Amino acid sequence: EIVVLRLGHRPERDKRITTHVGLTARALGASGMFLASDDQKITDNIEEMTGRWGGDFFVRNNVSMTKEIKDWQAQGGKVCHLSMYGINLPDAVPELKKQNKLMIIVGAEKVPGEIYELADWNVAVGNQPHSEVAALAITMDRIAETDPLTVPFENAELTVVPMAKGKKVIHDDELKEKNRQEH
Ligand code: SAM
Repeated sequence: EIVVLRLGHRPERDKRITTHVGLTARALGASGMFLASDDQKITDNIEEMTGRWGGDFFVRNNVSMTKEIKDWQAQGGKVCHLSMYGINLPDAVPELKKQNKLMIIVGAEKVPGEIYELADWNVAVGNQPHSEVAALAITMDRIAETDPLTVPFENAELTVVPMAKGKKVIHDDELKEKNRQEH
């Protein structure tokens, strides 16, 4: 199981990137995202997408970052903080692949020093500055046992049929109606 912890989100400034962190985590097979800031709109937005596109990805708004990390570790989980200062991902992959309960932390603005101490690993996706979305995606892809791009999503109202040209989406209207009645 993989969960993502998003730190340092500033409402307005980071809303798009944080939404992309959540959607990328979901698309690549994470079970949920913890958001260490209060921005309920992000949660609502991603949950609404999950309702339409399937799976059961969760978002938890306004968590305490240190509590969430310590709770996770107390449950036997390990924590991988993504930072350009860490050990390079290719060197960490063998160890990360062994984990069956992994929290991946990504920052926004400057990440507090405490996080570097609490993390089991500080891992760089190359030691050059880039993006939390890219860092998360590459990490999840490299540590996956089965190709995360080929895993189907259960209970989807919308499913894309891949094609070379054009767009085709299958709509499950029965499921749409059922979801509507439940909410
Ligand atoms: N300036 C901030 C600092 O010094 O902590 C980081 C800004 S960066 C745009 C935001 C997040 O992207 C970081 O917290 C980290 O999670 C991720 N990130 C950026 N480049 C990375 C890299 N090369 N490897 C791993 N993560 C990276």
